[in-house]
Amino acid sequence: MLQIDVLTILVLTAANLATVSVALPLIMGRGISRAARLAQGALLLQTLGWVGIIASELLAGSWADPVLSVCSVGAASAANVAIYWALREWLGPRPGNALLLALAVLLPVGYALAFSNYQLRVAYANFTLAAQFLVIARAALWPQTRASLPWRVLIATCYTVVAAFTVGRGILGGFMPHLYPNFAAPHPINIGAQLAANITLVLTTVAVLVAWREEAEAKLREQAYTDNLTGLLNRHGWTERAPALFDQSRRHGIPLALVMLDLDKFKTINDTLGHDVGDRVLQLFGAVLRDQRRSSDLAARMGGEEFALLLPHTEAAAAILIEQRLRNALKTACAAQPQLAVDYSAGLAVLDARDASLSAFMVRADNALYCAKDQGRGRLQTAD
Ligand code: GH3
Ligand code: MG
Ligand code: MG
Repeated sequence: MLQIDVLTILVLTAANLATVSVALPLIMGRGISRAARLAQGALLLQTLGWVGIIASELLAGSWADPVLSVCSVGAASAANVAIYWALREWLGPRPGNALLLALAVLLPVGYALAFSNYQLRVAYANFTLAAQFLVIARAALWPQTRASLPWRVLIATCYTVVAAFTVGRGILGGFMPHLYPNFAAPHPINIGAQLAANITLVLTTVAVLVAWREEAEAKLREQAYTDNLTGLLNRHGWTERAPALFDQSRRHGIPLALVMLDLDKFKTINDTLGHDVGDRVLQLFGAVLRDQRRSSDLAARMGGEEFALLLPHTEAAAAILIEQRLRNALKTACAAQPQLAVDYSAGLAVLDARDASLSAFMVRADNALYCAKDQGRGRLQTAD
């Protein structure tokens, strides 16, 4: 007959957690993101929680038992908040933050108040913990994120399974205390719960490492898409993002404006004042484009002193107003700092039936830009 001793699994869980809590920071090194640090913190807090429970079991009946038990459930709650916050950093806004925080405060407080009543405190603690686990599972699965699905499903599954076992523990302790007189009770649900905790530890560690790698990849991709000097998209980033916006606008008949911009006589600035001043002007133009654009707009440095601005939901009249604001902002910015009169020429095209592809659309805006140059620079020319 197979004999599984809950206390032994519990000690193994704590030992594994302690090992991972020490190993992960060593593996991941310094300079990691806030999300990765929160995930590491969650593991450490879980370790403290389980160690506290072991200690309280060993010291059951002494004055240290309630203190250690309350600290343990507090640490478990804090670990849940930390892992949730890590998810929020990795995945973007998630639902359930207020609920989780409320549960994290209510758990140790209610547990301490109910300590003299075994059934009440065990039911209360387990049901509250299970609710926290479900908030985490839901946050992992919640859509509206660019992160990949498999590791999120892994976390959600682990936390849901653990939540189910935790509810089981709550029912046992709260309503059938003879089957669950203490934490080491050899009831199948209790054994299953402790095994699930152990497996969850392994799988969430794997998920955390995958999330961390995905975060690093996203950062690299972001760097590859970004122009160092201006912080705008570079041509590569434009090629990656603009087609989707173009296709979407075309498909749904959304107005779309494209402005191509080229600084005027920029070579003269470099030649007379030096490359550094030229760079400064490019940075100022980048800042002006960034400040003026809406979050749905794309602004890119296409190369040298050429920029592009893609404006969804924008008709010609609105685009002309936006362009005027841009020109004034650039003039004001450059007059203030390098004390230069800087201007640009621009070509505007508004999406119509002829634009079968983004490149055709760009050619029309580019041709308009050449016209603006031809006609004396410092102006906006609308295509056709
Ligand atoms: P136009 O009005 O006809 O556009 O004249 P222009 O002088 O602006 O155009 P041209 O194409 O002759 O020169 C562009 C200059 O931009 C030449 C190049 O040295 C400069 N340039 C390109 N990239 C950078 C950069 O990263 N930093 C600086 N400082 N200059 C750059
Ligand atoms: Mg040029
Ligand atoms: Mg130029």
